[in-house]
Amino acid sequence: MPIDATLPYDDSNIFARILRGELPCRKVFEDEFALAFHDINPQAPVHVLVIPKGRYVSWADFTATASDAEIAGFVRAIGTVAADLGLVAPGYRLLANVGQHGHQEVPHLHVHLFGGRQFGAMLPR
Ligand code: 5GP
Repeated sequence: MPIDATLPYDDSNIFARILRGELPCRKVFEDEFALAFHDINPQAPVHVLVIPKGRYVSWADFTATASDAEIAGFVRAIGTVAADLGLVAPGYRLLANVGQHGHQEVPHLHVHLFGGRQFGAMLPR
């Protein structure tokens, strides 16, 4: 079920639990601003989730309320992960689902990083 991205942050969400080390993940990258790990149900040969360390439900509240340092750190982390995975030359796709229409299921901001194949047109018509 997609979430309501306007609700307050829920500390029991699955990515909050991964950040606290209560649940395992296949970690790809971590720094003070971001954690990246493999999606449990990959939709592509490479499917990594990059999440900020802070308590942000979605792209909406992150861009509205995160500090400039958090935003810069998170965006740089996404670029670093893509480069570390060797995806710059072949190319890759980033996706952030927001709320109901975006079909966001986990209420902690995450950017999907897809790679390893040709993705074709951007959205189904
Ligand atoms: P959304 O639809 O919210 O943009 O994407 C949520 C993503 O989180 C899905 O691709 C789903 O497979 C992934 N996911 C859900 N639970 C877990 C988990 O416990 N571990 C990992 N690594 N990924 C998860």
